[in-house]
Amino acid sequence: MDLIKDIDIISAEEAQACDYKTTPDENTGKTKKLYIESYGCQMNFSDSEIVASIMKENGYDTTSDFEKADVIFLNTCSIREKAEQTVRKRLSQFNQIKKENPDLTIGVLGCMAERLKENLLSEEKIVDVVVGPDAYRDLPNLVAVAEEGQKAVNTFLSREETYADIAPVRLNSNGVTAFISIMRGCDNMCSFCVVPFTRGRERSRDPHSIVAEAKDLFEKGYREVTLLGQNVDSYKWSPEENNKARLNKKEEEVSQVVSFAHLLEMVAQVSPYLRVRFSTSHPKDITDEVLHTMKKYDNICKYIHLPVQSGNSRVLELMNRTYDREWYLDRVRAIREILGEECGISSDMIAGFCTETEEEHQDTLSLMDIVQYDFSYMFYYSERPGTLAAKKFEDDIPLEIKKRRLAEIIEKQSLLSHERNKLDLGKEQLILIEGTAKKSDQQLKGRNSANKVVIIPAGKAKKGDYVNVKITDCSPATLFGEILEINPALA
Ligand code: SAM
Ligand code: SF4
Repeated sequence: MDLIKDIDIISAEEAQACDYKTTPDENTGKTKKLYIESYGCQMNFSDSEIVASIMKENGYDTTSDFEKADVIFLNTCSIREKAEQTVRKRLSQFNQIKKENPDLTIGVLGCMAERLKENLLSEEKIVDVVVGPDAYRDLPNLVAVAEEGQKAVNTFLSREETYADIAPVRLNSNGVTAFISIMRGCDNMCSFCVVPFTRGRERSRDPHSIVAEAKDLFEKGYREVTLLGQNVDSYKWSPEENNKARLNKKEEEVSQVVSFAHLLEMVAQVSPYLRVRFSTSHPKDITDEVLHTMKKYDNICKYIHLPVQSGNSRVLELMNRTYDREWYLDRVRAIREILGEECGISSDMIAGFCTETEEEHQDTLSLMDIVQYDFSYMFYYSERPGTLAAKKFEDDIPLEIKKRRLAEIIEKQSLLSHERNKLDLGKEQLILIEGTAKKSDQQLKGRNSANKVVIIPAGKAKKGDYVNVKITDCSPATLFGEILEINPALA
């Protein structure tokens, strides 16, 4: 999934849709072939890189053609009902090839595996292996069991696992930008969200392994890393304890604590030529210290994904987001004060949460006007079994109303994105070139610090170059520029 959606063309239906990524072809002479389809969030795509690495060590090359695979994994998402339906439909499409090749192993990994556990085996007969997000080290054993003709399940959730020692195999890489997972799980209990149940408790990865991964990527030619976690500002690590809840209890006893601001600084110091981004920030956790660290380093991109979910305090309370409208707006004020108007801010929005009134929906629209988001991921509420909201509240907003409210949010965002992009016209900006533009090979695509896509004519610049550009035109989703200088000195 692109970090930026083409919000000028997105519809309410599309907003709920699920893209997937597949493994590339790799031939290093291994005897078996692995095909992975990854659904959902960036964390899942990042996990698939860990899975590919583990399987590679055990005799598998990746393939982009599931018909050539010995093992097919679907790395799944449970966040909305639509995501699970998509996977079930996809599984039914694999029926035929399983009939033709009974030796084929089919595995369901990730959040859906964790949520449904062994029930998946009875509900989806074609599935041989069910593996939750903390059990990937066990994959080779589980596949071996399946090859013997038995079904295999491991949905054990760990309190410590971060896969810190596993070097991910970069899948679908442009060779310039990469994701680094810095923490796993989530200790927040947003009432609508299934993630705490599918990904377990919050734990932070050893900062030295994160910095080592960033250095290695830089040496291989990568020029941007995005630090990933469900709630990165909550990152907290000590040599003695990496589990957040346990660390909070024994903070006095540990020798050292590394916070997110600290980690950000460590990664920023790898090289002024390595850009650093991070996602996602929770409004309750983002501190002024993080904002000041962002300001201190030019290579930390001035962009914050700060999902609000709703602009109404009563709804936020029902969602158990632990902040209200005023708190959120105060955080936005701090961002503007410390990082200025040009800092990109994006959001996630849920339309039609339980009991949301028309006035409360209007509060979301008015908050969007105040914040002036650059872009947003927008959804209508989808009840998830087992969540606090499913237990406590009735999913009482009719689908048609949810869709209409979502369409209004999408329309508002499209207007705001265009307005925000117009503010960039005539400005000089530094962009990092990620490759050729989708629509024409006569154009290159890069991103500015605020995470906006900038299209420039293909001249002498190439992938991986930094380019100073002048912004000359824009649409709601894209900026267009001309080249001023290629690879200016940044240090
Ligand atoms: N940890 C991130 C945060 O708190 O902002 C978000 C992670 S979640 C994978 C991504 C987004 O999915 C959420 O921000 C929310 O907008 C959306 N989402 C989660 N549960 C949902 C549900 N039950 N229905 C609709 N959208 C949902
Ligand atoms: Fe889900 Fe809330 Fe955790 Fe985000 S912070 S993953 S929305 S529970």
